[in-house]
Amino acid sequence: PPEVLGDVPTAGPQGETPLRTPMVSPLGRARIPEPLALVVFGATGDLMRRKLMPALWRLKQEGMLPDDFAIVGNAREATDDADFRERMRGALAEFAKEPDAAEWEAFSHRLRFVGGSTDDPSTFVQLAKVLGEVDKECGTRGNRLFYLALPPSVVAQTAEGLGRAGLVCHPEDRCYTRIIVEKPFGRDLDSAKALNASLLKVFAEPQIFRIDHYLGKETLQNLLVFRFANTIWEPLWQRNYVDHVQITVSETVGVESRAGYYDRSGALRDMIQSHLLQILTLVAMEPPASYDADSIRNEKVKVLQAIPLLQGEDIDRYAVRGQYAASEESSASEKDGEKGASMPAYRDEKDVPEGSRTETFAALRLLVDNWRWAGVPFYLRTGKRLPAKQSEVVIRFRPAPHPVRDQVQDDTPAPNALVLHIQPDEGISLFFEAKVPGIRGPLRPVSMDFKYTSAFEGAESPEAYQRLLLDAMLGDATLFARRDEVEAAWTLITPILQAWEAGGEPDPYPANSWGPECATELLAREGRSWH
Ligand code: NDP
Repeated sequence: PPEVLGDVPTAGPQGETPLRTPMVSPLGRARIPEPLALVVFGATGDLMRRKLMPALWRLKQEGMLPDDFAIVGNAREATDDADFRERMRGALAEFAKEPDAAEWEAFSHRLRFVGGSTDDPSTFVQLAKVLGEVDKECGTRGNRLFYLALPPSVVAQTAEGLGRAGLVCHPEDRCYTRIIVEKPFGRDLDSAKALNASLLKVFAEPQIFRIDHYLGKETLQNLLVFRFANTIWEPLWQRNYVDHVQITVSETVGVESRAGYYDRSGALRDMIQSHLLQILTLVAMEPPASYDADSIRNEKVKVLQAIPLLQGEDIDRYAVRGQYAASEESSASEKDGEKGASMPAYRDEKDVPEGSRTETFAALRLLVDNWRWAGVPFYLRTGKRLPAKQSEVVIRFRPAPHPVRDQVQDDTPAPNALVLHIQPDEGISLFFEAKVPGIRGPLRPVSMDFKYTSAFEGAESPEAYQRLLLDAMLGDATLFARRDEVEAAWTLITPILQAWEAGGEPDPYPANSWGPECATELLAREGRSWH
């Protein structure tokens, strides 16, 4: 049965007339999708091998795929069904676990491959033919989910090719067609608008699923439950009690082998425009009128629209860009054997152009200028080669006015913070003051910790892609970005990108440190510090 959030009365005193629609959580439903063919463009790529195929296999093993299901892969490379099946079996062995031979044998017949570039109309003719065969052999009934795991440069042409080939069902047809588009969704506001326009020539908005895999993470979904299924936080969740909010997504790795992509992107585009702003909207949004996709997304868009643009001198003041320089020490999380090894500067990494000005660290101070949050800064930071890999949200409450505060030891962090650990060690910690036992015991912050792994022992969090693929198959767009949401996020980011591209240099920071000095100053000049 659908999971109902909270103790919501659904009937009047006599039990006949519903008082209001129950708040049905989209987060807890377990439904099996209709029969369908999943068409993956870019099926020989990294995303398919590392994430999508393992996620599909897990869904199958958990009984969440329909019996009548097929996967059709596409890439330019000329390969055949047998080779594609073998590659996918290899991907499972490498990134999930070696599938049972009999189970794989039964499933692999549902995998087909169509070679050819998506700029060639004959690819779509061949695809239509194979999909027709699949409908007959696998009972997929004309339902299609197109997954574009492609380089961004060929996404629009692929959507248009599908339209021209007549592979898109009309919303009123008995079958359905949906399309999943990967991030990055555009490079700036204009390109995002152009991509939306291309997609909307062929698909209606409810058919388009713009993926941000961060939204598939269990802790982010739990943020909605945490806020709206508990009454204790809501009175505090506003400017009278919250001093500021911090959102950190940090990585210990450098650019690795991705310099080709990363150098054209940078931390602001790659992380803040998508993941960090998504997290911000979930923290700041108002309770939705109901938990359907559009009600939730309406509230998220309102948050983005309430953020004043950073422009002119404010960009220098409230936006920090950094780039990692060489360091002699390795991060604590590096393998033992590598301890003490020096880490190269970003500019010395393989495939990074000489003198690159791309930022590997970005921090912003934003305001959400609405009734709930007026005057409360939201500090966002993300970067590579930082000392820890973690994603967390810190809600820092206002300090207590009582003189007992004076007994807090100088070097301890300010108390009263709620920390949402998104990864690793998913959970929630509440920091508050306690007296150290003893006659003259000073105060010290202590924490109450909730950890998913211990609270729900044995229960495994699904991989983000598992959750998102299933939702797209079910037609539930709650965890996908809507057109206006993506454009509102680019509206905020584009002026900063343009200012940075126009000139100046990113501030260097030593690898394995928390970013450039000015990231510390961003908070310090307002009397605050990073958690
Ligand atoms: P890869 O470069 O590993 O794979 C790209 C795939 O697209 C290959 O299968 C390639 O095969 C195919 N391809 C390229 N051009 C065409 C074309 N014209 N027609 C048909 N197929 C084509 O990329 P990834 O798998 O890493 O990424 C795919 C998308 O997913 C990107 O948009 C990326 O930003 C996004 N993404 C990836 C993540 C990851 O972890 N890998 C994470 C988040 C997002 P061939 O060359 O044979 O045509």
